[in-house]
This record gives sequence, C-alpha cells and structure tokens, in this order.
Amino acid sequence: MIPQAFEYEQPSSVADAIAMLGKHGGEARVLAGGHSLLPMMKLRLAAPDALIDIGRIASLRGITDTPDAITIGALTTHAEVAGAEVIASGCPILAETAAGIGDLQVRNRGTIGGSIANADPHGDLPAVLLALDGEATAEGPNGRRTIAAADLFVDYLQTSLSPDEILTEVRVPKASNSAYVKFNRRAQDWAIVGAAAVVHGSSARIALTGVGSKPVRAAAVEAAFDGSNTAEAAGHAADGLDAPSDTAASGEYRAHLARVLVRRALEAAMAR
Ligand SMILES: Cc1cc2nc3c(=O)[nH]c(=O)nc-3n(C[C@H](O)[C@H](O)[C@H](O)COP(=O)(O)OP(=O)(O)OC[C@H]3O[C@@H](n4cnc5c(N)ncnc54)[C@H](O)[C@@H]3O)c2cc1C
Repeated sequence: MIPQAFEYEQPSSVADAIAMLGKHGGEARVLAGGHSLLPMMKLRLAAPDALIDIGRIASLRGITDTPDAITIGALTTHAEVAGAEVIASGCPILAETAAGIGDLQVRNRGTIGGSIANADPHGDLPAVLLALDGEATAEGPNGRRTIAAADLFVDYLQTSLSPDEILTEVRVPKASNSAYVKFNRRAQDWAIVGAAAVVHGSSARIALTGVGSKPVRAAAVEAAFDGSNTAEAAGHAADGLDAPSDTAASGEYRAHLARVLVRRALEAAMAR
C-alpha cells in the first residue's frame, strides 16, 4: 500500500511539463487528479521514477463554447463538467456521464483529461468521446496535434499519446440527442457495461464501455438503426463482440447488458 519512492515536480506551464517529461526519458508520469494513478502506485501496478504534477497549470482548465463544439481543458474536473450549463444544454451526454462518475470526492478531484488519458475500458468518458466523435489535443516536444477519439484508445490502459506528450484539451461536437446509460452494482461503482448513444436523425453512433480492452463502436447497431427502430437495432449490440468474463459478470451477461443498455441509451437520446 506504499508506493515506490519517486521524484515530484510541479511545472507552471505546459512547456515546462513537457521538458520535465523529456528529462525523465519516459519514466515519469503526469499527475492530474490522482484518482487512478495514485491507487495504481499504491498497489505497485505503476512505479514511475517521477510525478509531473500539472495541477497548477491554469491554461489546462476551463470550458470554451463555440457554435458547433465545446472545448474542455484537460484539468477540468468531472464536477465542473457536470455543473456547466453550456455542456448540459449543448452536449447532455457529457454532463450526465460526468455527474455519474464515482462519488462526490472522485468528481471533485478527477479530471476529464486524466480519465481520457487513463483509457480504462471500464471508464465512462472514453466511450462517450468515441460516440461523440470527439477529439483530444496533445502537446509534446514536436508541437501540438489533434487525435480523433477513434485513433486515441489503443488497448487496455493504453492511448496513442507518447510518454512525453500532455493531453491539453478535449473537444466534443454539440449533440443534443445523446445519452449514456450504465449498469453498476452500487451507485459509486465502475460500470460493468455502459452504452453511449448519439443520434442524428436517422443515424446513430453507439459506443460501449466494459466489453473489451478498450471502448468499442457497436457497428451492427449503427448499420441497423433507421431513426425509429430502437429495440430491433439494439438487438445487434453484441454482434461480433467477445465480451470478457470476470468476477463482476460473465461475457454472456455483458452481451445481454449491451443489448438492454443500447436500447435504453437510444430511447433516452431520442427523447431529448
Ligand atoms: C473510488 C473511485 C471510483 C471511480 N469511479 C469511476 C466511474 O464510475 N467512472 C469512471 O469513468 N471513472 C471512475 N473513477 C476514475 C476517475 O474518474 C479518475 O479521476 C480518472 O480515471 C482519472 O483522472 P485523474 O484526473 O484522477 O487522473 P490521474 O489519476 O492523475 O491520471 C490517470 C492517468 O492519466 C495520465 N494523465 C492524467 N492527465 C493527463 C494529461 N493531461 N496528459 C497526459 N496524461 C495524463 C496519468 O499520467 C495517469 O497515467 C473512479 C475512481 C475512484 C478512485
């Protein structure tokens, strides 16, 4: 329960943070809210040589509204996302997802950038970003780049971010007909399975949490959906899935949950 010894650095700008990451040659980790990284360090599942605490970099905070999209600084907390009127009205799936993450303490410390960069397949925000067709901006020694959600999540706890890159902001298109529904045993638990639905008229983008090593699109549902046949289309939610079995649920039960939750997410999105 005691982490391995590590150095601690506190940059005041993104450029300083990138330089510090470079100095440690891939053996340092960015510290944001610490609500995933510190538990992993205590369990010695992560043992970085150094933590680069980005918490005081003011430019990484805040929410910017534009006509078609909302840009959210990486250090914006789940509570701030959940409470932002511009997100509740322009992208309700994001506000409701943030409001349902963990408990109050987790939401007050955990950040949108940390959740995305952590790429936990049971985390809620990666699937939501994928369904929204959102993107992340990263800055590193070679400058700034934009990464589409579809190219960001690589595998279990792995993204396409380089070890010396900082995720600086997340951009989501506005999507009023959107909803996220998850199944967990207790209110503060991680999702066993979750479904994100973003509906545009007769088409939909659907992504699932908890059915593989990374969030996945439910392509068969998207192909079957015609704008009204929610139950029939949702019946395809487990097509092609090889959902894992573990102590929380069997793969078969996860497939059942995927079908039920996709139907509920589609219905909720269309009712908005
Ligand atoms: C009790 C509990 C319950 C939870 N329940 C849920 C839940 O229901 N749903 C859910 O989705 N999540 C849940 N979480 C996770 C929570 O949302 C975390 O806050 C989140 O996963 C990580 O965000 P963080 O800011 O704490 O990141 P940290 O823990 O600081 O970092 C996580 C990882 O991302 C990297 N990182 C962080 N920020 C950046 C950045 N800007 N650029 C590059 N790399 C970065 C770190 O180096 C680290 O590898 C829970 C956590 C706890 C402790």
